[in-house]
Amino acid sequence: MAVTEIPRVAVSACLLGEQVRYNGGHCNHRLLQSVSKNIETIPICPEVGIGLDTPRPTIRLVHDDDKIHLIEPKSGTDYTDDMIIWSELQSEFLIKQKISGIILKKDSPSCGLERVKVYHNGNPRKEGQGLFAMVFTSMNPQIPAIEEGRLNDAVQMENFFARVGMMHRWWERDQQGWTMASLQQFHSEHKLLLQSRSPNAPAALGRLISDLSGKHPQQLALEYITLAQSHMNTIVQRKHIAGALRRAVGRLPKTISGRSRQRVHTWIDGYLAGNAPRMAPLAVIEQMFEIAEIEHLPWKRLFQPFDMNSGVFAKI
Ligand code: SF4
Repeated sequence: MAVTEIPRVAVSACLLGEQVRYNGGHCNHRLLQSVSKNIETIPICPEVGIGLDTPRPTIRLVHDDDKIHLIEPKSGTDYTDDMIIWSELQSEFLIKQKISGIILKKDSPSCGLERVKVYHNGNPRKEGQGLFAMVFTSMNPQIPAIEEGRLNDAVQMENFFARVGMMHRWWERDQQGWTMASLQQFHSEHKLLLQSRSPNAPAALGRLISDLSGKHPQQLALEYITLAQSHMNTIVQRKHIAGALRRAVGRLPKTISGRSRQRVHTWIDGYLAGNAPRMAPLAVIEQMFEIAEIEHLPWKRLFQPFDMNSGVFAKI
């Protein structure tokens, strides 16, 4: 399967408006509509996937015998094995589709990523993970995964799609086959972006790819993106974004006057203090690179507004 021009993202089908929920309804997510032209979505519904009807009796996670089971309480039917087998096959299929992210419905015993109810002797504890979500994320820790509820937070939404963008570029390079040179190039392009989320990431990843133990570049590239995504799976902090922006100012050509640079630092200070959106210093620095007619790839990777029209950048 060739890599598509825009990232492919798997999404719980009910979030896309498909009437696949246990009650025959859906839970269409309005934010997904606002970004849908920038991603190609692949709908997935694990419960329909294992052959359950719509509508259907509810199922739940039950702790029994030191194991978690997926049970339909009404009939007592245990769907655990069916769901695990389907989830493994579906995870392999999604990786063949070269997906760059996955958005899952929270609280679901199949799709929920965290704090899903697990019943102990009939009493629920919010401590589990939906079975499909558990299988997919353990097989593919490199793929950014998020619950739809977190997309309501603009900072988390922007970070998720920054990770999706990086994953998509990784797939594009992967298609050509990795060499040590292309992996080092990928790393140097993404240093600023990585630093803006996790200041220790560039050094840790640099050490990984300077490994001279003779690993095949293809294997190293997978280890690289897995570690990079785990560093980027973080709560984004203004001070880290500001640090990366100041580094970018240091990369501006000498033709940019000291006074102009100082003006950018003032915008960065304003962003850091919470008085200006991130877009303000981003736009000023971008304009300076443009005026100087310099294509600075690490900057491009940091300044990669996912979608100006989504309104996300006005809120962060
Ligand atoms: S939460 Fe998952 S399993 Fe439940 S209806 Fe939505 S897609 Fe299907």
